[in-house]
Amino acid sequence: MLTLLKLLKDGRFHSGQALGAALGVSRSAVWKQLQHLEAELGLSIHKVRGRGYQLAAPLTLLDPAEISARAPSCEWPILVFNSIDSTNAEALRAIERGQSAPFLVLAERQTAGRGRRGRKWVSPFAENIYYSLVLRIDGGMRQLEGLSLVVGLAVMQALRGLGISGVGLKWPNDVLVGQQKIAGILLELVGDPADVCHVVIGVGINVNMQMTDEVDQQWTSMRLESGKAVDRNHLVAELGLMLQTYLNRHQAGGFPAIQAEWEQNHLWQGRAVSLIAGVSQIDGEVLGIDVQGALRLKVNGVEKVFSGGELSLRLRDDS
Ligand code: ATP
Repeated sequence: MLTLLKLLKDGRFHSGQALGAALGVSRSAVWKQLQHLEAELGLSIHKVRGRGYQLAAPLTLLDPAEISARAPSCEWPILVFNSIDSTNAEALRAIERGQSAPFLVLAERQTAGRGRRGRKWVSPFAENIYYSLVLRIDGGMRQLEGLSLVVGLAVMQALRGLGISGVGLKWPNDVLVGQQKIAGILLELVGDPADVCHVVIGVGINVNMQMTDEVDQQWTSMRLESGKAVDRNHLVAELGLMLQTYLNRHQAGGFPAIQAEWEQNHLWQGRAVSLIAGVSQIDGEVLGIDVQGALRLKVNGVEKVFSGGELSLRLRDDS
């Protein structure tokens, strides 16, 4: 099926006969494979009598060789899947199998892409990036402090590096343009943080997605922001380089070395917000973050500090 996709990816018309000859199968076998492509990958294929078959839009597939050529300092192996439940889930399985870190898992699509607390991350085929970088951490609780905020900065800078303006951060780790979500981050940890552990840095970035009914909050994509199709291989390379830069800074100076830059890019500094933790809600004003990346809120005139993976911020209507 993938060979067929590679033949079609130029977005031109290809006759059933030519496709059959290239694949060494009959025209009816080509027809079946085309139906699979549509059904399984959600692709739209034009069928025109006398001309043949054409993808509704040309595709660029993920290419580890091109990514490595653009980011030679990122020496981790790259595993690319056409379709996987979730790149984070696959990364966790690979750790279990003994794959040595660092390594990167990418997928053209996720069938069960996930956000925090089991929420779904919408992941159509070949439109966005679904990225899980696995690192091994040896006895360094300090290396974990504020890590998801550090990743947010790296993602933001990668997007800016590819010409997207107006990108900023929302505590703890959302990447937004204005109020619209352009990327999500999910860190998962296995092992003993005080001894040896692995961290899976999961990042989903909306790249060329222009339409979906599935996302239930405001969202945008690089293409919607810039009006241009974005080369996903270039973005993966840029993200790797940015992660390297920020993770090195974090390792050398801890989160305090990053705190000021993070606050400068926090879209909700000084805003009136509600902090949601399960069913409870705390209203306050965002003061910033502390040296560990915890949220500082002014609540009834008093500064309070909050941290933890279960917390979500919402703007208050009167903000
Ligand atoms: P927070 O709790 O920090 O406010 P959140 O509600 O945005 O975060 P996350 O776990 O970060 O939750 O992401 C999952 C949510 O993101 C989903 O519930 C959905 O609303 C939204 N979402 C899912 N897929 C996408 C996507 N491709 N682009 C933008 N948003 C998405």
